[in-house]
Amino acid sequence: MKIIRKIKLMQEYVKRQRKAGRTIGFIPTMGALHEGHLSLIRQAKKENDIVAVSIFVNPTQFGPQEDFKKYPRPLAKDVRLAKSAGASVIFNPSADEMYPAGYQTFVEVGKITQGLCGASRPGHFRGVATVVNKLFNAVPADKAYFGQKDYQQARVIQQMVKDLNIAVQVVICPIIREQDGLAMSSRNQYLNAEERKSAACLYEALKVAKAMIKSKIKETAKIKKEVRNIIESNLLAKVDYIEIVDAETLEPAKMIKGKVVIALAVYIGKTRLIDNMVIG
Ligand code: AMP
Repeated sequence: MKIIRKIKLMQEYVKRQRKAGRTIGFIPTMGALHEGHLSLIRQAKKENDIVAVSIFVNPTQFGPQEDFKKYPRPLAKDVRLAKSAGASVIFNPSADEMYPAGYQTFVEVGKITQGLCGASRPGHFRGVATVVNKLFNAVPADKAYFGQKDYQQARVIQQMVKDLNIAVQVVICPIIREQDGLAMSSRNQYLNAEERKSAACLYEALKVAKAMIKSKIKETAKIKKEVRNIIESNLLAKVDYIEIVDAETLEPAKMIKGKVVIALAVYIGKTRLIDNMVIG
């Protein structure tokens, strides 16, 4: 399998594939690949001739106090896993290749970035939108695959693609979970054994919220309170946010109506985890 580190070479590779009549599926990642990532690669493999996976820990989407430095970077293992899931090529640029000296252009998506993780992580979605835009230019694909795990991110990318007329089809794939329901994440490896057990409370709380909605409880305040109680009954857990929002606009919902997303961000010890469930 090919590993490409330069933007120009990556663009030339895609051009050659297109010339040969092949379709390209693209999965942007920050590496430390797990079954969640691999499910996106497998889906892309089903729908395209060539599958490109980018591995780039993007400095511009991390806040100054966040985990950019300690974020895991097991490149050799990632290459092996990506290949086994069907990747044809890996794009692994350096930070200097992506942001050379003198770099000065950023992409800001509006309202949809302001709540949820956008409120807790100022500048995060500016970094995400910028890097994904740059990656789309480096790997001009037919389809790009994102996980529902990062629901707001996927919506931000859809909005950006629409607003900027980017010629890529965004595909959102389901959340892959561990046996106890914890959403797979590269950050789960920060958890010690005790924290790992506690982390199951995010999914437990989401399931209770879903059951409440099924039993026709409409007031979101009531549902959020119950979700908070479940999570806070856990000594290691500290809620960052619990929100119920419209699935399209991400505006907070007072009452359950149409398609909604229950979205959570919770610190387990020092590790911030997110999860969500789409309902309706
Ligand atoms: P990351 O490497 O964390 O930036 O994630 C790269 C892509 O994989 C994003 O589109 C994520 O939403 C997706 N992803 C991460 N974890 C999961 C998961 N547990 N299930 C499905 N997709 C995931």
